[in-house]
Amino acid sequence: MAAESQPRAPKAKSPNRVASGRAATQGQWGRAWEADWFSLANVIFLLLFAPFIVYYFIMACDQYQCALTSPALDLATGRARLSDIWARTPAVTWKAAQLYALWVSFQVLLYMALPDVCHRLLPGYVGGVQEGAVTPSGAVNKYQVNGLQAWLITHLLWLANAHLLSWFSPTIIFDNWIPLFWCANLLGYAVSTFAMVKGYCFPTNAKDCKFTGSFFYNYMMGIEFNPRIGKWFDFKLFFNGRPGIVAWTLINLSFAAKQRELHGQVTNAMVLVNVLQAIYVLDFFWNETWYLKTIDICHDHFGWYLGWGDCVWLPYLYTLQGLYLVYHPVQLSTPHALGVLLLGLVGYYIFRMTNHQKDLFRRTDGRCLIWGRKPRFIECAYTSADGQRHRSKLLVSGFWGVARHFNYTGDLMGSLAYCLACGGGHLLPYFYIIYMTVLLTHRCVRDEHRCAHKYGRDWARYTAAVPARLLPGVF
Ligand code: NDP
Repeated sequence: MAAESQPRAPKAKSPNRVASGRAATQGQWGRAWEADWFSLANVIFLLLFAPFIVYYFIMACDQYQCALTSPALDLATGRARLSDIWARTPAVTWKAAQLYALWVSFQVLLYMALPDVCHRLLPGYVGGVQEGAVTPSGAVNKYQVNGLQAWLITHLLWLANAHLLSWFSPTIIFDNWIPLFWCANLLGYAVSTFAMVKGYCFPTNAKDCKFTGSFFYNYMMGIEFNPRIGKWFDFKLFFNGRPGIVAWTLINLSFAAKQRELHGQVTNAMVLVNVLQAIYVLDFFWNETWYLKTIDICHDHFGWYLGWGDCVWLPYLYTLQGLYLVYHPVQLSTPHALGVLLLGLVGYYIFRMTNHQKDLFRRTDGRCLIWGRKPRFIECAYTSADGQRHRSKLLVSGFWGVARHFNYTGDLMGSLAYCLACGGGHLLPYFYIIYMTVLLTHRCVRDEHRCAHKYGRDWARYTAAVPARLLPGVF
């Protein structure tokens, strides 16, 4: 689950520069090798403007009560100047810097110093040391999966503080929202720059590095596949999951506390947003081992779009509904609230079951039941860059027979539910569903581009068997 904003994946033309000979013509299924001008233009646009896009949203809430078009209209008509808006923007503060440093250090501590105990205590939960998928160079990494434990400890501490200890106000995140934004940016850029330097100077696995001729493309899309410090500090797993996704539910709780402080109550819309997004976040951590086999970990290299995206884009833009509800305390009618709840839960069910079916099918190598029957599948083969031949299977029954990415369809239904919880007063909370639609549609296309390279004719057989990508008869 990455906050991602990336350019079109260009055609894979030449193989990894570390591969040679026979291997050089194989294993072309990782990310792009060369950046065409269109990708490069996208990269430069995002590097330059993505922080301002996020700034625009949170500034619109801070200064214009979340009216998304008002700042642009004010600027266009001369009612405000950029300098006025900038002058009203809270600067970084010492308090926010301390808070942020403490937050990230605490998450590093939970990630590194506490071996997982949840897998011993919670039946059905898979944590502890787990293996990832085969990388393009043929390596298999081990991961310390302890995200659920980190999430639980963090939230128990938050609740203990709110109800017993009172070390800090539960509105602390909202109260420092923009000063924290500058700190998150600093970390996002620092970690991306470090990852770039590391990729050139001391990569963890040189065979899984990729370089294009473009500095900007390398910076954004990443050079190293799985950068690590030491044996266990894995950049992708840490930054994808924490601090961004652990923060997501805390941020929502802080927004709910602020709504109560300002308006004397927490509305049913705020409760719905908190509950539905908490289900999604908890699902992520409960299934962190499964997450090791998703595109974020199996395909994407670690660059700015993961590093900065996880630090800034995700915590600031995925939480817009809660932020909006602080300024607009929407109280939904019972049918509206029930409709949102139903859409959110059905979307979640489809999302989870589709992901579960693939996971079960792959884990048992097809020796399982899907919708009560033996699964139907297509046998396929691929070659990694080291020349090794591997076998795999593509499921064509259950939700995977309905569409090739029905998990995205469920995700989109859930995303729409969060937005609909905010009513119809403003455009701003609907940014999320627009963004997710673009993100997941683009992801469909680039995943299929990758799979077509990886599986060749076998992939064509699969697309013939399951023609729809997201929704039968539509796309
Ligand atoms: P998938 O879990 O759909 O993984 C795609 C991969 O699964 C393919 O590359 C291929 O990999 C394998 N695969 C494809 N078709 C089949 C099949 N029929 N049978 C078996 N394996 C198949 O995609 P993601 O990793 O992108 O997404 C995981 C989840 O995360 C999704 O539910 C998505 O909605 C969610 N997500 C959420 C985001 C957010 O920001 N909220 C962002 C991105 C994703 P292989 O090489 O192993 O064959």
